[in-house]
Amino acid sequence: MKAMVLNQITSIENKPLKLTDVNIPSLDKNEVLVKITACGVCRSNLHLIEGDWLKYGIPPKLPIIPGHEVVGIVESVGGDVRTFGKGERIGIQPLYNACKYCDYCLTGREHLCDTRQITGDTEDGGYAEYLKIPSDFAYKIPDGIDDLHAAPLFCPGVTAYRAVKRAELSPGKTVAVFGIGGVGHLALQMAKLYGAKVIAITRSKMHLNLATKLGADVVISPVEEDVAQSMKNIGSVDSVIIFAPAKDAISQAIKSVKKGGTIVMGVFGSIGDEFMFVDEKVIKGSVIGSRKDMKEVLTLAADGHIEVVCEKYHLNDANEVLTKLKTSKIEGRAVLVP
Ligand SMILES: [Zn+2]
Ligand SMILES: [Zn+2]
Repeated sequence: MKAMVLNQITSIENKPLKLTDVNIPSLDKNEVLVKITACGVCRSNLHLIEGDWLKYGIPPKLPIIPGHEVVGIVESVGGDVRTFGKGERIGIQPLYNACKYCDYCLTGREHLCDTRQITGDTEDGGYAEYLKIPSDFAYKIPDGIDDLHAAPLFCPGVTAYRAVKRAELSPGKTVAVFGIGGVGHLALQMAKLYGAKVIAITRSKMHLNLATKLGADVVISPVEEDVAQSMKNIGSVDSVIIFAPAKDAISQAIKSVKKGGTIVMGVFGSIGDEFMFVDEKVIKGSVIGSRKDMKEVLTLAADGHIEVVCEKYHLNDANEVLTKLKTSKIEGRAVLVP
């Protein structure tokens, strides 16, 4: 099969992903083989490729095939697989596998499992024609969502969903979402479903327009305004959700949430000196989502509650697409098609 393989950690401008012929993976008895029809392009793929996450041990091996928001058709199944059959349409999220026996796994938080594996980070992912996955970590995709629009549900969708859930929203509350890209554009729509007033903070004009189009009540550009001051003028902000991996954004977010308010961190970043214990603010991390979260996202999307904004590219163009993502030239999500 053809795959865009990463052999060497380097800047994306060096075009490190090489179109390569590799073997189609062979199946264990609990796995399914998927013929990929779409795979979203995530900022974490860029972090992996450029070596930003070497300090966290990612990737643990080279070469590796990146990509972790995958849609495809089941090509074959291992002998023990009862849940899927050939020809079914399934999706795969970053959570590739977990032990199923630890405290996290037994309490519906398998995405926190100490031995979890991540699609495209620790196991070969979706920048390819085929992918194999343990059947317990694949999801049937409801009719009514096409492959292109389904792919981003499997990382931005579930990431946004869990972060919004952890933001403790309800009708009348105000939430600020920092970073309106692949994840943020879905998070703001999900926050609206809770009845919250949504403030979108993002640097590029294109993303400000997107946020307005998708129903943000207020948009703020940190390029043109002092974010903390503008938020103060709007009134008290109950929760903030951070998807912008920038020091400034994190510090503004912590500063602008009200005392006792909730800060949800959806990216790596330093809390810095802005966090004052006397304000009793609560900081929570949120990472991808459990299998239950994933199923809820699919139901929400199938019911037409969220609009996935995406653009289609060919698999061979992965380097160029990631370069566009790095320079904020992708509106919602870029999706690669083999
Ligand atoms: Zn992702
Ligand atoms: Zn576990």
